[in-house]
Amino acid sequence: MATPIEKVTPYDEFNYAIPEGEFPKDGMSARAAAAVVISAEWTDANPMLNMSSFVTTWAEPEAAEAAKRNIFKNYIDHDMYPQLFAMETRMVRWLHQLWNGPHGVEPYGTATVGSSEACMLAGLAHKWNWRQKREKEGKDASRPNMVTGGNVQIVWKKFLRYFDVEPRIVPLKPGNYRLTADELEKYVDENTIAVVAIAGQTFTGEDDDIEAIHDWLDDYEKKTGISIPMHIDGASGGFVNPFLYPDYKWDFRLPRVQSINASGHKYGLVPPGLGWVIFRERKVFNEDLVFYVNYLGGEMPTATLNFSRNGFQIAVQYYMFLRHGFEGYRRIMQHTLDNATALRKTLVDSGFFTIMNEAQRIPVVAVTLNKEVTRYNEFDVSNKVREKGWVLSAYTMPPNAEEVRSLRVVVRPHVNHHVAQLLGQDILSACKYLEEHGGNATPPKLHAHAPEKTTLSKC
Ligand SMILES: *Cc1c(COP(=O)(O)O)cnc(C)c1O
Repeated sequence: MATPIEKVTPYDEFNYAIPEGEFPKDGMSARAAAAVVISAEWTDANPMLNMSSFVTTWAEPEAAEAAKRNIFKNYIDHDMYPQLFAMETRMVRWLHQLWNGPHGVEPYGTATVGSSEACMLAGLAHKWNWRQKREKEGKDASRPNMVTGGNVQIVWKKFLRYFDVEPRIVPLKPGNYRLTADELEKYVDENTIAVVAIAGQTFTGEDDDIEAIHDWLDDYEKKTGISIPMHIDGASGGFVNPFLYPDYKWDFRLPRVQSINASGHKYGLVPPGLGWVIFRERKVFNEDLVFYVNYLGGEMPTATLNFSRNGFQIAVQYYMFLRHGFEGYRRIMQHTLDNATALRKTLVDSGFFTIMNEAQRIPVVAVTLNKEVTRYNEFDVSNKVREKGWVLSAYTMPPNAEEVRSLRVVVRPHVNHHVAQLLGQDILSACKYLEEHGGNATPPKLHAHAPEKTTLSKC
C-alpha cells in the first residue's frame, strides 16, 4: 500500500489483501476503508432474520439519533454527563416500581453492559451477605453454594466458577425443562447464598416455578431456621411479564426475591449492550461492594464490574420508556406474543412438530420433531431454512434431557405477522423437502467432561 492515495480510486485500494497476522502498515482512504468494512457485512447473517437471538435489531430513526448524539459519552463519567446519570437513576426507580418493589425503601440498582454483568453483581451481593451473616454467627463461611436449574444461561456457570461458588444445579428431565420446588430439598442447605430462578429461560421461554420455589423456601425456613434469598433472572421475562401478566407474581411481590436482572437489549428494545440489576432495597447490595470515588464537590458510589462503557444505550432506553410508556410496551409485547402463538400453531398443526413449552410466557417458540419423523432432525431443518436467510437455533437439551432435541424461534417485536407466517411456511417447506430427500446433520456430540459446552443455548 505504498501508492499515494490521490493516485488511486477505492477500487484499487479495497482490492488489496487484508493482512491477517500483522498490523496494517499504511492507511487507505475513508471511502475504501468503509467499503472494506461494509463488504464484510454482506456475508454475515441478516440480523433481522436471526431468530436465534433475543437481542434487539431494530429501532426508530429517532432512537438511532439519540444513540448518535450520545455515542462519545463515557457512562462512568457522571461528573461530565450528569444528565445521563440522572436518566439512569430515574430508570432504576421506574424499574423498581415496574417490578413491584416495596414502598418506602431506597431503591438501588444500576445499568450494566448486559444481564451477565447484572447477574454477577447480584450473585456477589448474595455471596457477601451470606458470608457476613455466617461470620457474625461465628459459623464457617468458606463453602458457599448456589442453587439453579439446569436450564440456566451460561452467565451463572461463569459466575459460579469465576467467583468460587459451588454449583448446585438441579438437572432437567425429558418433559420438564424448568426449575421446580420438587427436588430442592436435596440441593439447598445453610451454605446456599441464593436460589436463582428464571423468568423467561433461553431454552423454551418458560418461567421456573417461581412462586412454588418461594413458598417451599418459606417452609424450609420454618423447619430449619435457614433463610435463603432468591434472585430472579429476568433477562427476557423482566420486560415481558409486567406488561402481559400484571397479576402474575414473579417479582418483588414475593418477599424472598431480593434482586432481579433484565436485559435492556432484549425485550427492553435497546440495541446491545444494556442490562439492569435492581435490588429490593439499598441494603441488599452489600455496602462492602460499593466504592466511593471523588468527584467535583462530592463522593459518588460506583459498583459495576466495568468502569468505562458507552452511554448511548442508556439514552436509548430512556427514549424507549418515554416513547412507549407502559401501554406501548404492553401492546408491543402482546402482538409479539400473538405472532409467536400463531407461528407455533402453524408448526404444530402441520403434524411435524410438538411444542416443548406448555406454560408459554415470553414469545419463544420451542418445538421438537414428532417421533414419526426419522429421516431428518432439527439440525437439518435449521440448515435447510438457512438457505432462505433464517437463522434458527437447534440444540440438544442440557442434562438430564440430552436425548431431547429442540428447534427454537425467538419472535421479536420487529417481526410482523406476515413475516412470522413466511417463516412458518419456510419451516414447513423445509420439512417437506427433508421428508423426501432425507437429512444428514449430526447433532453435536456431548463432550464427556464438559457436557454444558454443547447444550448452551444462544442468547
Ligand atoms: C440473555 C440471558 C442472559 C445473559 O444476558 P446478556 O444480556 O446477554 O449478558 C442471562 N440469563 C438469561 C435467562 C438470558 O436470557
